Parts: sequence; C-alpha cells; structure tokens
Amino acid sequence: MDNGLKLGFGMMRLPKRGVTIDVEHTKRMVDAFIAAGGNYFDTAYVYLGSEVATRKALVERYPRESYMLASKLNAGIAPTENMAKAQLKKSLERAGTDYFDYYLLHCVLENNYKKYENFHLWDFLNEQKAKGVIKHIAFSYHSGPTLLDELLTKHPEVEMVQLQINYADWENPDVTARANYEVARKHGKQIVIMEPVKGGKLANPPEDVKNLLKAHRPDMSCASWAIRFAASLDGVLNVLSGMSNMDQMTDNLSYMRDFTPLDDGERKVIYEAQRLLKNSATIPCTACRYCVEECPKHIPIPDLFAAMNLQLGSGQTAQAAEQYGKLPHHASECLACKRCEAQCPQHIKISELMKRGVEMFEQK
Ligand code: SF4
Ligand code: SF4
Repeated sequence: MDNGLKLGFGMMRLPKRGVTIDVEHTKRMVDAFIAAGGNYFDTAYVYLGSEVATRKALVERYPRESYMLASKLNAGIAPTENMAKAQLKKSLERAGTDYFDYYLLHCVLENNYKKYENFHLWDFLNEQKAKGVIKHIAFSYHSGPTLLDELLTKHPEVEMVQLQINYADWENPDVTARANYEVARKHGKQIVIMEPVKGGKLANPPEDVKNLLKAHRPDMSCASWAIRFAASLDGVLNVLSGMSNMDQMTDNLSYMRDFTPLDDGERKVIYEAQRLLKNSATIPCTACRYCVEECPKHIPIPDLFAAMNLQLGSGQTAQAAEQYGKLPHHASECLACKRCEAQCPQHIKISELMKRGVEMFEQK
C-alpha cells in the first residue's frame, strides 16, 4: 500500500482525560489524519492503553485494508521467552485485528539485543510472517551504526528499520542519527523515523533556536522545521509524529499534506539551529518514560528533567522550582543504582544528573 502522506500517526502520547486516553478526541484526530491522506499508525504493547484506543478510534471505524498498523514486541519487560512471544497475541486482541502490517522488535539496544536472540524472537517473527499474522518484519533501534550493520547483515528478512532521527541529534555522538541512517540506506531498508521532534523538545526549543526559526519563517511552527527535516531525507517511508491533541495534528497536516522538502536556504537555517543546540545545556530527555518503571525510588525522571530544562533552557528559575516542588519524589532520593540508565535510549547519565538536580533545587 502506498503511504500517500509522509507522516505517520504515533499513538504513544495520545490525548488524555485525567489518567486515561481520551478516545473521542483520538477519534477526531484519526478522522482528520485519514481525511488528509494519512494511513500509517504506530502503537506498541508497552504504550499504556494505546492499542485499545487504536482499536476504538481506528480499527472499529475504518476498513482494515485501508490503513497500515504497526505494533511492537518488547523483550526488555518479558521475564521469559513465552511471555515475550505472548505479547503478539495480546496486542492483536487489544487492537482488534488479526494481523499487523508492520511488527517490530521494540527498542533494540546494545544491552538487550542478545535477549531478542536468546528468546528466538527473530525466528518467531519469521514464523508469524509465514502465517500472515505479520506482513512486514521490522525493528526499532537505539544504539550505534556498528551493531545496526551487524543486525541488518544477520537478518536480511528485516524490511523496515525505525530510527531516531532529528536535526538536533543528526551528529550527536550518543544517538548517531546520521550514521544509523546511512547504514539502513546501505542495506536498502525502508526507514520509519521516530522522535523527529525529539519528544516535543524541538517544538519548543531554547529561545535562541526559536528566534532563529521564527525570524526565517514567522508563519511556521518550530515543530514543522523538525518534521520537514526528517521527511526531506531519501528512502523514508514516513515520519512518525506522536501527536497529543488536535492542534498538533492540524499543525502537522498543514505542512505535510502538500509536503515540500527543505530548500537550500532552509537547510542553512537548520545548520545554524544544530550549532546552537550543540551548545545548549538542556538534558536531551524525550519523555519516553522507559526508565520510570525501573526506578526503585519511583522518581518521575522525565518530569524532573523537564523542570531542570525549564531552568537550563530558558532560565525560568521560579517556574522550574515550582514544577520541581510539585513532584512526588525528588532527586535526593536517588540511590545511584543506574537501573534507569540501562533503559534509556538517549544514553543519558541519569544518576549524574540527579546530583545536578539536588544542587539546582535542594541545596538552596
Ligand atoms: S539511579 Fe536513581 S533515578 Fe535511576 S533507577 Fe536508581 S534510584 Fe532511580
Ligand atoms: S531519561 Fe531516557 S528513558 Fe527516561 S524518559 Fe528520558 S529519554 Fe526516556
């Protein structure tokens, strides 16, 4: 199926009413997305409530063959091989479908790829594809180019790889976005881009970057630069945007409906934004929350970093302290056990930053 719109609907940060997903709001977003020509939806076993909301907002309301649905199996949270494999059945049930167009091994990293092998999950995907339960085999990836090259060489059955690519991380040595992109291209794989807006950070970048982008195109949102940068790359099936409300959907569709790649002048603006961001002191947390479950002290790590970034990125000291004060657990409770760090796709030295958080907010 041709994906007319080069934008995918990431169902990871769906709108909420209280603590539960707002399905009616999600339905309106799905309708707008489909009306604009969108047809790629991305969910996962570990996105709390997302697969069920996808069923209600999409699967029960549109013919199954009219869109592509992707979900993911996460071995990281599975104590046994059988429990890992059981995620597929559960995901199908939750989403109300009997197949996934793309099925991904989720968040493959240096420190977990052996678990995917030891649990025979590549073979499992091949078996499920032979049965028609999976149409395309894929994985999402968060480590460096050497392992990516190894995995793609060892598993030629992979048809798509989902990579974290955004202009801020293009040359970031911890994320290696450009190098990973080049490896995937070398192997001739389809590429789906995740985190093009870096978990929302590039929608609201530091002041100097915001001023730069607005000076060039006052009519365009900061997020539009990030999504258009990703979508301008060759070989990209689509760019996932984890939209959380109708305003974000409307903004994304405004420049993706009739997508035009960045021109030379716009590329120069992006180079300048990359230079400014390289010097930025903010913490590159994308609020994926993979670390949160691991913390024995229940520290809301991404919320704590968001408070720190208010101060580090835009000097909002009072607001940062107020936001920090409202958190249920604080940096001084950190045991430096580093369990969180093993889960972090951004390779953030969380325990070191906890000490910084204490200095910023608890030692005054
Ligand atoms: S290092 Fe600190 S923040 Fe990370 S899991 Fe351990 S206690 Fe929690
Ligand atoms: S610290 Fe890392 S794992 Fe935790 S929410 Fe941020 S990016 Fe995700």
